[in-house]
Amino acid sequence: LDERARACLLTSRHKLEEIMKPAYLMDHMISDEAITVEEEDMITNQNTKREQAAALVDLLLKKDNYSFRSFYNALLKEEYDELANLLKEDLPLTQFTSSSQCPVQTLLSEGGVPPRPEAFVPRPKEENEIREKLYKLQKQPGWVTVFGMAGSGKSVLASEAVRHKELIEECFPEGIHWLSIGRLDKPDLLAKIQTLCFRLEQNLDSQQFHRPPSTLDEAKERLRFLMIRKYTRTLLILDDVWDSTVLKAVDIHCRILLTTRNRSLADVVNGSKHEVEVNSGLDEDKALEILSQLSKIEMYRLPEEALSIVKKCQGSPLAVSMIGSLLRENPDRWGYYLRQLEKKQFRRIRKSSSYNYEALDQAIAAGIEDLSDDYRDLYNLLTVLHKDVKMMSVLWGQDQVDTEDTLSEFVNRAMLFVDSQSQPNVFYLHDLQLDFLLEQNKNQLKSLHKKMVERYVHRYRDRPLTSRDEESLYWIRYLAYHMANANLFQELHSLLFSLDWISVKGQIMGPAHLINDYLEYGSILDKEFQEFLSLSGHYLEQRPFPDIVQLALSQPHTSEVYRQARLLAQERAKDG
Ligand code: ADP
Repeated sequence: LDERARACLLTSRHKLEEIMKPAYLMDHMISDEAITVEEEDMITNQNTKREQAAALVDLLLKKDNYSFRSFYNALLKEEYDELANLLKEDLPLTQFTSSSQCPVQTLLSEGGVPPRPEAFVPRPKEENEIREKLYKLQKQPGWVTVFGMAGSGKSVLASEAVRHKELIEECFPEGIHWLSIGRLDKPDLLAKIQTLCFRLEQNLDSQQFHRPPSTLDEAKERLRFLMIRKYTRTLLILDDVWDSTVLKAVDIHCRILLTTRNRSLADVVNGSKHEVEVNSGLDEDKALEILSQLSKIEMYRLPEEALSIVKKCQGSPLAVSMIGSLLRENPDRWGYYLRQLEKKQFRRIRKSSSYNYEALDQAIAAGIEDLSDDYRDLYNLLTVLHKDVKMMSVLWGQDQVDTEDTLSEFVNRAMLFVDSQSQPNVFYLHDLQLDFLLEQNKNQLKSLHKKMVERYVHRYRDRPLTSRDEESLYWIRYLAYHMANANLFQELHSLLFSLDWISVKGQIMGPAHLINDYLEYGSILDKEFQEFLSLSGHYLEQRPFPDIVQLALSQPHTSEVYRQARLLAQERAKDG
């Protein structure tokens, strides 16, 4: 209960106890669900009317603003105008005076909570998880972070989670206020908080005119005052937050739900914190249902491309609903949009809607743009990482700690996903993300492969490749692939014709892999090496692994194979 309301109850209690008849008042309060039948019994069990009144006041002191307001309304209804007047001045602000008078919808739309999208499928598991975390803010202020990939449905889930009568009544009876944040600068942020303060002050019906706060600090103080004094049990929803500056500006001990792609944003603020991760995609059935609702074709009559579209988008609510609305306008384009997806033509998949980003590519691009330069370079390398590889850690060529930092930066920003069931952890990109990278970097593939090779050279200049670490294994497997795609033919040539390489790769991966490289990049191969391998290939199966130099020394003395073997033998002799 509000401090002022509380003080007012205490000072008026004598008069209240003297005059009021609790029995009638309590009928109204029960129908408002402000008190329970058990509480009513407890009060009527008191011997005298005066004792009953005292018990009701005691009960109210333990209750919330909503009950206080209900009590006030009951006084009015029972024509205790004089008593009601005693309380009127200090009436706490609840935006609805009784559950029936103020439906949830009004409260939500007053607070700017967006309505459901045109096509909507419920996601009860995630909605409930968010609600559960919001209930933790019932007794104390704190933060709930809802995070996930671009277009995974965070905002829709947040608004759906609060469209819930009990939650509002029990936790946020003083209102829910939605602020769309996005990527904004400080002046924009100030403007948003000014608007919020204005909205809150207006609700207070105060005649006082307040100059809008002119700096962020001032805005923070004003908001702190409002929240603590008048709107304690209010929820602020900050939608699509990118920058922790925003959170610092509202780090005022209040109740906040934020949606973001960046899981770690709330690390910098104080108070209790809770988080909910949103899956990047919907189940196939639900995604199909969105297509069905938007295209106005019943589920069982959807064309076969529908399922392919859903699969191609991995159920991304944003992608599916963008395509669905395009199909509504162009009902014969199922095949066309599927092909656009397959050709990674995300730009064609655009739709003006209430969503912040007009096209699918913009939604994904925004995340990449927001990275620091170093991280962006690393992220772009994912474009060329061999597609069979789930061990992204090999990519960075950094030490363990840096690698972990890089990976968690991407995971926290929902730009990379981790399967933590597997040990060691497996990391992967969402198909839409990989497709986006491939499309965006399609003219840079060569140079990205080259960067990969440079990383290898840098890392293994003076370290041997071994079978013991993932990174080595990656290079043993895919170095030739990167060299070939970087058009580094000379380097590839020397690699494949190096006895060292044959020996290491043959030993660690077996001859099949080795020979596969020679088949794959055969066009640039030297005949002598091919002959050498086809004649000696079977030796490479042997364990212990044969001495490659000895094998090569049996080749014709004019061959390159022999020349290298001789050099190596001489080096060995020198080293003793
Ligand atoms: P995010 O906040 O994660 O970027 P949104 O919640 O804004 O994503 O959702 C993006 C779009 O996806 C919405 O505009 C809507 O069209 C669609 N969408 C998201 N969730 C649902 C849902 N539960 N049912 C139907 N469409 C949805």
